Amino acid sequence: MSNLPSQPAPARLAIVGGGPAGLFAAEIARAAGLQVDLFDAMGSVGRKFLIAGKGGLNLTHSEARPAFDARYRERQHPVAGWLDGFDAAALRAWAAARGVETFVGSSGRVFPVDLKAAPLLRGWVRSLRDAGVRFHVHHRWTGWAPDGHLRFETPAGVVLHAADASVLALGGASWPELGSDGAWVPVLAADGVDVAPLAPANCGFDVDWSAHLRERHAGAPLKPVVLHWHDAHGVAHALQGECVLTATGIEGSAVYAAAADLRDLIARDGVATLTLDLAPGRDLDRLQEALLRPRGRRSIGEHVRRATGLDAVKSALLFEVLPREAFDDASRLAATIKRLPLRLQAPRPVAEAISSAGGVRLEALDTRLMLRSRPGTFVAGEMLDWEAPTGGYLLTACYASARVAALGAIDWLAARA
Ligand SMILES: Cc1cc2nc3c(=O)[nH]c(=O)nc-3n(C[C@H](O)[C@H](O)[C@H](O)COP(=O)(O)OP(=O)(O)OC[C@H]3O[C@@H](n4cnc5c(N)ncnc54)[C@H](O)[C@@H]3O)c2cc1C
Repeated sequence: MSNLPSQPAPARLAIVGGGPAGLFAAEIARAAGLQVDLFDAMGSVGRKFLIAGKGGLNLTHSEARPAFDARYRERQHPVAGWLDGFDAAALRAWAAARGVETFVGSSGRVFPVDLKAAPLLRGWVRSLRDAGVRFHVHHRWTGWAPDGHLRFETPAGVVLHAADASVLALGGASWPELGSDGAWVPVLAADGVDVAPLAPANCGFDVDWSAHLRERHAGAPLKPVVLHWHDAHGVAHALQGECVLTATGIEGSAVYAAAADLRDLIARDGVATLTLDLAPGRDLDRLQEALLRPRGRRSIGEHVRRATGLDAVKSALLFEVLPREAFDDASRLAATIKRLPLRLQAPRPVAEAISSAGGVRLEALDTRLMLRSRPGTFVAGEMLDWEAPTGGYLLTACYASARVAALGAIDWLAARA
């Protein structure tokens, strides 16, 4: 028996949710010497991160700050504080330290050179395990026991876990089949935490298409187009990009970029108008001149396509919004090609969206992202109430907030030791 004084046991941190936010919090906390147990409802961690890899894993964006910060809209100031500690350059350096070099694509988006998420995730989880992070999969967190223990449902029944502090990183409610289903919302709300309802972000919208358009053109890309819309403050926006017509309406990267404004308008007014320029770079007068050329024996649709160069999908959209007689009016037709109004009826459900708006309101947390109502419980990632467009801004804020929460937990535990 040694007479040396025994070392105090390391503080125990529980991390609930094994997406990028939970994994990054685990990495930081373990490096600081905490005992880290990471729980996830699914049979493996990082499923949404892996799916993001299907799009090439857009890790972050090369846009300079403060323009970068402005992508977080109403929450840009608190998010900027998180980014001060861990920004796009830090995220790229982090990936490089794991042997994953990144490059800036033509749009300014940043991707791993191999455009894959799986090798990065695999190496990351392995290094966390090697560092001593204990993974507990098939553990669905359902709240707290009366004594404060974390309560999990597992295949073996209910498990209670004692921790000195915890980080919740449960994600939003998009693509619930990947694990983040938003089931935590009523749990936290019942605990007195102020949670903004989860809402679709980076989502498509419903349009009341004719049966003809649905049957003939669902799934067709619409490119290039310029989207014009107004936000809830009446400010006009325009963006050139690509969309896809779907059986229920319209989606795609350009629509996602406008989605937060359009969603808010629909919530306020019941409907929103998205206006499409189907012929970017073509002058209105030239289009009109071309349409005035004799049609001969050609059908109207063929005449429009030949005169304007529009493809079948774009010309089908004209038939959606114009009455038959308008096709004899070259001026009205040309004006509609340059400004085709689409009536958006509703955003698609959050389960179909790329990400969620809403979540734990930042006012419910202190600057370390600790719940004011439950000291020792920190919150990180998409389950916080911020939103951003696609482009790598989502993952960047997940990492940056995870770092704040993990450092907050480390400090809080140190102060209590
Ligand atoms: C198709 C698609 C593509 C995307 N592509 C990109 C991209 O290229 N770039 C980008 O920046 N962003 C992208 N995103 C968004 C990005 O993946 C998310 O913002 C990010 O994964 C959120 O990280 P998170 O750790 O907060 O939550 P999540 O990644 O959602 O992880 C949350 C984890 O918590 C677990 N969990 C949930 N509830 C419980 C519970 N009750 N108990 C235990 N565990 C629970 C889940 O199983 C999950 O593992 C994409 C999203 C989708 C759907």
